[in-house]
Amino acid sequence: MAVSLNTLLERSIRNMGSGMNQVVKETALEVIKRAYKEGIYVQLSDGYRSHEEQQKLYNQGRTTSGNIVTNAKPGQSLHNYGLAVDYFIVSDDGQKAIWTVNEKWKRVATIGKSLGFEWGGDWSSFKDYPHLQMTGGLTLSQLQAGKRPKLTSKVDDIITAPDQKVESETVTNWIKVTGDWKGQTLRNGQYGKPVKQLQTMLSKNNPPFYPNKGAKNNGIDEYYGDDTEDAVERYQSYYGLKRDGLAGKEVYGSLKDNKSNSKSKPSQAKGTVHLPASAKTWRTYKLNVKPVKKNSDWSLTPARYGGLTYKILDKPYPDVVTIKTGRGKRNIYVGSGTSAVIK
Ligand SMILES: [Zn+2]
Repeated sequence: MAVSLNTLLERSIRNMGSGMNQVVKETALEVIKRAYKEGIYVQLSDGYRSHEEQQKLYNQGRTTSGNIVTNAKPGQSLHNYGLAVDYFIVSDDGQKAIWTVNEKWKRVATIGKSLGFEWGGDWSSFKDYPHLQMTGGLTLSQLQAGKRPKLTSKVDDIITAPDQKVESETVTNWIKVTGDWKGQTLRNGQYGKPVKQLQTMLSKNNPPFYPNKGAKNNGIDEYYGDDTEDAVERYQSYYGLKRDGLAGKEVYGSLKDNKSNSKSKPSQAKGTVHLPASAKTWRTYKLNVKPVKKNSDWSLTPARYGGLTYKILDKPYPDVVTIKTGRGKRNIYVGSGTSAVIK
């Protein structure tokens, strides 16, 4: 099944972070929507970057290991002002990042430019193919001096010819389910008490699988939408169950077991993780920090080695595995949306 537009948008919003200029953010999401209509699946990998994050990136390949990925020091990148995003193409199923600059990739740049973006692939000195930015005519020194551009959104510009039908948004007709959840199959599109019970069990599991962490009530809202389906899939892949996004007997039994075994240790993680050559860099995290972007102090460089494979030593969080690197044990993020292959 093809990746849903909502999934691409959700992941991209998460990766852009807060601190984005609203017009840039809105326009970047519009690029994803327009590309989607053409059968091109795009995701954003980056948006706003703090000065601290920029410094870390600048250090890479200079004072820390890895390839040089930027020439911009803190304050010298449009990302530091929330005026730039980076994109990549994802495979049809949404599971793999594709970094090849092909026709699809260039088409996305064209869509971006039609909406007011400047494309890094057009630069003559340092070509930055994933990069889209808006300066509003301001120079870097004006931005550094505290000036901010007044951008106008082109998102509402009409692109379809008058006689073409505009596709309407898909509306979910929610189906009500009742009673207690005892393992009967629940699925996307349903709502009601059993769904809430499922969401609650997922959230109380150790580790927890929230439908939408950080949202109101962590997304426990009795609606089985894309977020809940995603939580079920993460749960299924974490525990090695069939990953179909359906909450039936198997998921129910497993959640129940976990609850009664909550004092015993989780089974020893095993298997390997492969980071393919298509990935230029891969962030790592020390074991004592939360594996979020800003806490990464060192990246692996799979591309340089034609891909890298590691033994999985542990799975401390959903979608995070512990591996042994040249700098000792490290955590890496291997969730869907990354190109990691777990075996
Ligand atoms: Zn960029």
